[in-house]
Amino acid sequence: MTTVDTQKLLNDFPLVRQLVNLEEVSWFNPAVTRLEDGLPYVGLNESDIRDASERLARFAPYLAIAFPETAANNGVIESELVEIPNMKNRLESEYGVTIAGQLLLKKDSHLPISGSIKARGGIYEVLTHAEQLAINAGMLKTSDDYSKLYSHEFREFFKQYSIAVGSTGNLGMSIGIMSAKLGFSVSVHMSADARQWKKDKLRSHGVNVVEYEQDYGVAVEQGRKEAEKDPSCFFIDDENSKTLFLGYSVAGERVKKQFEEKGIVVDKNHPLFVYLPCGVGGGPGGVAFGLKMAFGDHVHCIFAEPTHSPCMLLGVHTGLHDGIAVQDLGIDNITAADGLAVGRASGFVGRAMERLLDGYYTLSDERMYQLLGQLSQTEDIQLEPSALAGMMGPVVVSRAQSYLTRMNFDAKAMEQATHLVWATGGGMVPAQEMESYLNKAAI
Ligand SMILES: *Cc1c(COP(=O)(O)O)cnc(C)c1O
Repeated sequence: MTTVDTQKLLNDFPLVRQLVNLEEVSWFNPAVTRLEDGLPYVGLNESDIRDASERLARFAPYLAIAFPETAANNGVIESELVEIPNMKNRLESEYGVTIAGQLLLKKDSHLPISGSIKARGGIYEVLTHAEQLAINAGMLKTSDDYSKLYSHEFREFFKQYSIAVGSTGNLGMSIGIMSAKLGFSVSVHMSADARQWKKDKLRSHGVNVVEYEQDYGVAVEQGRKEAEKDPSCFFIDDENSKTLFLGYSVAGERVKKQFEEKGIVVDKNHPLFVYLPCGVGGGPGGVAFGLKMAFGDHVHCIFAEPTHSPCMLLGVHTGLHDGIAVQDLGIDNITAADGLAVGRASGFVGRAMERLLDGYYTLSDERMYQLLGQLSQTEDIQLEPSALAGMMGPVVVSRAQSYLTRMNFDAKAMEQATHLVWATGGGMVPAQEMESYLNKAAI
């Protein structure tokens, strides 16, 4: 990796100076393009998403048995979409802005199996790997009823193979629980910010949890090295995996269907703004890709990051992508938003998606806690701190007059807009832990 000339960066990019000062900033991408112009850079298309969607459908009968909590939805791992009008009022009064249109929350926080957005990508990648192994061994055909995987025979088969991953917590939860259920032996390399209860829960599922005193980047590197020593071990690469990305992208068509059921229109006169908390980028990037394929140019995706970990904004804004880490500038990557505590963004996601993303903003930990308390108060919905990063989005966009003008949104269209905040985690936070989050929110 080349060394970064930080002095030159500070001179060339005034915004980088603000990032270093840990200011809350927003940046709306002046080079955002139409879907048809941006799509070639993604290198994936509609048929890739369809393939992922079909694979998840094949596994649904298995999931419905293996995880009874998914049976009510026939083994489809999907979350609710709810309107949060009281929170909208609270944001408007708190920040003195008018948020034109309606405010909705996508409750990936309450996805079954692992209680976070990682139940999309993480589980999907494990299933993809398992399917490939079983097909190659002649034990499975795609036309089979996959509930046959819920058997001693298959568990014994998968036991010969191992899976490894590096994580700040939630990816490890998804991959650990799913892999262990299928029968794999699985190691999760956890960074220092991973919560104790997540490690305990994984161990109770028989997962080998390896703990590090360093951050996510180190946990991933160590996981990768461990995996390389063992030819039967499959390393899930959160920084570069297209499989993970596609697992997330299936959310697009699912949201489109949920909108149709609710009678919510998305078109030129009814823009959709989606606010996505960003760590390494795979989750929000994959979801944004799926949303773009589902809604075309009428959906506007905006990424949210902690002021202490603005890796995607830094990488995209400077054009250096994964060639720079926030630590290169002396930013510490220490945040209460453990799901977002990533210092170096995915190079794949930034390069693939930068033309299709409308903007990025940062917010402080204090603000995430404050929003956590306000959402609990106004809507009785409890999330983990990371999942509140998107909640400032409607305020940031409502204030961004030059962006709104440049994009030609008129007042009428904004009145009919939908703001969708992607709640990425928190559904499985233990009561005592949630209590301490709420106490911090009250300070
Ligand atoms: C992982 C995670 C994210 C972001 O996903 P990335 O793929 O790391 O960008 C956001 N919120 C929560 C709660 C997460 O666990």
